[in-house]
Amino acid sequence: MDRHKAKGARKGIGYAFMKSIGYYNGETGPLEEMRVPMNDRACYFGDGIYEATTVRSFLPFALEEHLDRMESSARLLRLPLPMEREKIREELLRMCASVEQGDSQLYWQISRATAMRSHAFPKGEYSSNLWITVRPFRMRKVDESYALCSVPDTRYLHCNIKTINLVPNVLAAQTAAEKGCEEAVFHRDGVVTEGSHTNMHILKDGVLRTAPLSNWILPGITRAHLLTLAREMGIPVREEAFTLQEMQEADEVFFTSSSAFCCRACALDGRPIGGRDEKTLKRLQEAYMQKFLKETSGKNPYLGESR
Ligand code: PMP
Repeated sequence: MDRHKAKGARKGIGYAFMKSIGYYNGETGPLEEMRVPMNDRACYFGDGIYEATTVRSFLPFALEEHLDRMESSARLLRLPLPMEREKIREELLRMCASVEQGDSQLYWQISRATAMRSHAFPKGEYSSNLWITVRPFRMRKVDESYALCSVPDTRYLHCNIKTINLVPNVLAAQTAAEKGCEEAVFHRDGVVTEGSHTNMHILKDGVLRTAPLSNWILPGITRAHLLTLAREMGIPVREEAFTLQEMQEADEVFFTSSSAFCCRACALDGRPIGGRDEKTLKRLQEAYMQKFLKETSGKNPYLGESR
């Protein structure tokens, strides 16, 4: 029996595929029913890393880039991978093929170990834990525009590591939600770093401006794609931080992430922003969408014959 179709998914003859599936060190089941051990260091310390991407037609977008960043975050946290990269890729693809719908959100995290609580790494050899979740995903409308609010960036100096320590991001996102905004913009003394779960960009006089890579921001994969596409399209790119004031004065303001794609902002702290270079922004949004559609047009090798 294929363990990825097991547990809770059985219906009459054969199997029904789940919509949301969880995986923990090889065990799978309906996501809502999955349990992890209390001694997983993710629970005590947030001692782990994660990745997330959008899946279309059972294929995760930009999987290799996400695996590259996973390796980089793991190196920075001195976190051993639970298995070879190739095996992780295989498990991820299998899980994407194990759900009912082709369009999903794929999330995975790796935590350091399961061990009695003690801050330093467990003594001797230990193995890390692999968690995977796949759940239905509905793409946000790219032709809509969204309100933002600013919040001081109170995070630490390791924002380039995609760790599961996200409390300041959670608080910022909650502030945004309470203000009826889509996203919170982190700033350090007025200088914008990034969003609570997105990278921030502006267009001014035809130039795309975004914060440079540093330990203050996550090296967003969508950000990297966007910069490559802009350069290919002849749109000048300046990797230089901008201020909240410059955001207010920009021709367009937008934010990117693997799930939000490339979203236009229309207000910051209650004041209207952007709306003055829609043409360039639309070109970028369309180029990104084309790339996404093209790169997810193949076939997941683990898709069963039953479909
Ligand atoms: N910054 C932060 C803090 C994020 O959490 C995310 C989304 N994971 C991003 C930026 C965007 O990164 P990506 O384009 O790789 O999804």
